[in-house]
Amino acid sequence: MVLSGELQYSKEHKIIKDDDLAVREVENIFADILDRVKLLDPANSRKWFEKLTVFHFDGGSLVIGCPDEETVQFLHDNCRSSFTRAAQHITDHLVTVDFNVDNFESTPRPTQRPGRGPKLHPDYTFDNFVVGPSNRLAHASCIAVSQSPGNTYNPLFLYGNSGLGKTHLLHAVCYQARQGSDSEVIQFLSCEDFINRFIRAIEKGNLPGFQSQFRTVDMLVIDDVQFLREREQSQEEFFHTFNALYNNGKQIILSADSPPGKIPSLEERLISRFNWGLVTRIDPPSYETRIAIVQKKAHLRGLDISDEIAEYVARKVHANIRELEGALTTIYAVSTTTGKEITMELARTALEGQLKAAARHISITDIIEVVTGHFDVRLADLQSKKRSQSITEPRQICMYLARNLTKHSLEEIGGHLGGRDHTTVMYACNKITLAKDADPQMHSLLGELTKQITQPSKA
Ligand code: ADP
Ligand code: MG
Repeated sequence: MVLSGELQYSKEHKIIKDDDLAVREVENIFADILDRVKLLDPANSRKWFEKLTVFHFDGGSLVIGCPDEETVQFLHDNCRSSFTRAAQHITDHLVTVDFNVDNFESTPRPTQRPGRGPKLHPDYTFDNFVVGPSNRLAHASCIAVSQSPGNTYNPLFLYGNSGLGKTHLLHAVCYQARQGSDSEVIQFLSCEDFINRFIRAIEKGNLPGFQSQFRTVDMLVIDDVQFLREREQSQEEFFHTFNALYNNGKQIILSADSPPGKIPSLEERLISRFNWGLVTRIDPPSYETRIAIVQKKAHLRGLDISDEIAEYVARKVHANIRELEGALTTIYAVSTTTGKEITMELARTALEGQLKAAARHISITDIIEVVTGHFDVRLADLQSKKRSQSITEPRQICMYLARNLTKHSLEEIGGHLGGRDHTTVMYACNKITLAKDADPQMHSLLGELTKQITQPSKA
């Protein structure tokens, strides 16, 4: 820990001079900050936060020490604002928060290649993946590929509905492959990212740069390749990328929401290539697997929940593991905000409140009202042909919320928003879903809007 200059405050805002005392005091402050973060953002709180250290702390800046680069990335992307708010609340000062690798064992990990490796989520490892009949084959093939890239199943193609663990497994493969070999160059990205980078390369006249970036890797992992549909030029480019890698024995791993042959308007030559290796499906998890997942996720957050509660949650939510996690987060949030232990009664109240809110009849007008109010735009703008970012984003958010909070069809939703057709609505929903997963700010904005729509009295 570096205490730069004189420590300026303690919890009671006393000036501290004694060094030992200062260190202890900082540790106490930091423990309070961590407690506060739990309250502010239960969804992103993890048990391993306990292992974080204070790397540097002075009057205006707190740098938190993390065990590795992935942790730094995760905290930076998901938790920076809650840590900042917590630090400001506890110290009563304007504090900026940053994260840094703290090599407590003083041997820097040789695998660290800051800025070069793919962004990986520290939760998405094989250790944290619960294996059951619904995903056994997918899991086993991912393990095989990560141990010997390019030599077993190539390409490996995972498919299944949203929220069943495809992205989690792709991250886990990259982790494992990177542990196995430091020199391995891994490119991991979403299909949208691939398409956007391709478009940008064309615009900048730098296609060769793009091509060399993708055709020289050891492992190319692309998530959600169904977004290649109707993208003829991107498909063409991807076809050549695929061939270059495949012919050099490099590993290709893909995921999608449906099997290759069912992705609309995907070129025949890509379909056949995607089928060359192993195509494996992930199914919705069984009741037993769901219980194990709830327990695993609770453990990750440092929660102790009884079997009875895990069974209750697993019974309530079945189709989608993301929702299973959401249910657990709700329970955790109610427990931390009320300071009550997680009992069966608390779990029931927490989830039933959530289910009731969802069941309440919500109209598209309710949604439009909240969204236009938040963004300060007019309904007429949302219904107009305007395509500026300041209008399209609220419009797409309305579509997404209407799709998730009402029972209206895509056509009906499009009808309310200027007579747009169902593909436009579907595109908007996908786009916002991806943005929600990738961007914590979008995630919390959607949560806030949903709260205002479902609990209008509190708005
Ligand atoms: P997909 O990419 O298929 O839409 P994700 O990989 O994003 O789904 O998974 C959604 C959430 O569910 C993630 O938080 C992930 O960790 C979790 N999850 C999915 N399957 C499992 C599993 N078998 N064990 C533990 N967590 C899982
Ligand atoms: Mg995914």
